[in-house]
Amino acid sequence: MAEVRFQQVGKTYPPRRRGRDGGSPVPVLRDLDLQIEDGEFLVLVGPSGCGKSTLLRLLAGLEAPSSGEIYVGNRAVSRLRPAQRDVAMVFQSYALYPHLSVADNIGFGLRRSRSRSVLELLQDGLHRTSRSWPAPLRLPSARERAIEARIADVAEILELGPLLERLPKELSGGQKQRVALGRAIARQPAVFLMDEPLSNLDAKLRTGTRTQIVELQRRLGTTTLYVTHDQVEAMTMGHRIAVLNGGRLQQLGTPMQLYQWPSNLFVAQFIGSPPMNLLPVEVCAPGQLLVAGRKLVLEGPLEALSAALVGQQLTGGLRPEHLRLAPATNRNLAAEVSHSEALGNEQLVTCRLLEGSQLVLVRTGPDEILAPGQSVHLEVDPAGWRLFDANGEALLPAARSATSASPQLPLFG
Ligand code: ADP
Ligand code: MG
Repeated sequence: MAEVRFQQVGKTYPPRRRGRDGGSPVPVLRDLDLQIEDGEFLVLVGPSGCGKSTLLRLLAGLEAPSSGEIYVGNRAVSRLRPAQRDVAMVFQSYALYPHLSVADNIGFGLRRSRSRSVLELLQDGLHRTSRSWPAPLRLPSARERAIEARIADVAEILELGPLLERLPKELSGGQKQRVALGRAIARQPAVFLMDEPLSNLDAKLRTGTRTQIVELQRRLGTTTLYVTHDQVEAMTMGHRIAVLNGGRLQQLGTPMQLYQWPSNLFVAQFIGSPPMNLLPVEVCAPGQLLVAGRKLVLEGPLEALSAALVGQQLTGGLRPEHLRLAPATNRNLAAEVSHSEALGNEQLVTCRLLEGSQLVLVRTGPDEILAPGQSVHLEVDPAGWRLFDANGEALLPAARSATSASPQLPLFG
C-alpha cells in the first residue's frame, strides 16, 4: 500500500522524424501536481490525446518524465526500472503472453520478481517440468509451491479456476481481461494502473466487470489509478475523479463535487452526459439573472455572491434536470421543441429558446408527448444555476472553492 504523488511532472515527447508534425517536440504534460491517497481509487478522465496513458506509463516506468518527480510512498521512482516500482498495469489490449497458459500468465510477474541463484533456477525448472508427472516423482520447490498457491488464490477470486490450463486464444474478451487483472493482482503491488481496461468489452460484460473491479479494489485496498472515457465508469467507480486537459489538471474531486460544482467550463461540459447547458446571462440585481429576455431568480450558494456581480455578463450553466416543462408564465423561458429522444425511463428534449435561439436540453418524464415545432415553456430551478466568468472559470461560493483547491481525503469503507 502506498500513496502516489506526481510533483511538477512534465513530459515532452521528442520530435518524430516523419509524420505530420514534422519534427517538433510534443509537449503532453506540464508541471502536473497530483496526489493519490493510500488506498484510493482515482479515476482519470480527459479527451483523447490529453496524456492519460502517458501519465500511467510514467508511473509504470515505461516512459521517463522530462521534468519533476514521481513518488510511490516516500520513494522517488523516476530512476527505477519498471520491475522495481511495485506497480502493476492492466492494458486495454490485455497484453497476455499468447504462448503461455492462463496459470502461467498469472504467475509470470511472480516468477520474474526476484533474482535467483543458478541452483534455485534449476530446481524451479525441474519442478515445473515434473508437474505433469505422477505425484511421488514431482520435484519440490518451495518458491514454486508458493507461486502456485498464489495463482490458485487469484483464480478463485476472479473465477478463473476452470480456465487455468487454456491459452489466451481459447478465451473470450471478458475472460482475457480477467486474466490480465489476475496477473496484476497476483503480484500484490502497491499500486494498480488500469488504462481503459473495459473498453474492448460489450456493454453487459462491461457493467459486470466494472462492479467486480470496484469490489476487488475495495477489498484489497490497493491504491488505483484508472483511466476511462466512459461517463458511467468515471461517476461510479472512483473515490475521486481527476480531469486532465491541455496538459493540465482541470479539477480533482469526488464525482459529486465535479458534477455539482465544476471548477470551469471544460469540466462542466466534460463531466455529465448530456453536458451542462450554457447560456449567456447578466446579473441584473442581487439574486437575479437576465436570461433570454426574462428576469429569473438565482438562489442557493451563489445568491450571496451575486451582489458583487451586478452588471456583469457571465455564462450561466444549467444541468438538464434543472429545467422543467411548465405552464407559460413571465418567469418561464419560451421555447420550441427541436427534437426529443426517448430513453425508456425518461426523455431528453432539445428545445430552442425563442429569444436568443440557444439550444437547451431538458430531462422530462417518458409519458410527455412532444412534437418538433411544438411551443413549450421552461421553468428553471433557481438553485440550479452555475456561473462562469469570461475566462471560463467558475464563480464558486467560498466553501466550494476551498474543497476543490485542497481536496479532502475520500471516505473509505
Ligand atoms: P491519451 O491516453 O489521453 O489518449 P496519450 O498519453 O496516449 O493520450 O498521448 C498524449 C499525446 O502524446 C498524443 O498527442 C500522442 O500523439 C502523443 N504521444 C504519445 N506517445 C508518444 C510517443 N511515444 N512519441 C511521440 N508522441 C507521443
Ligand atoms: Mg490512452
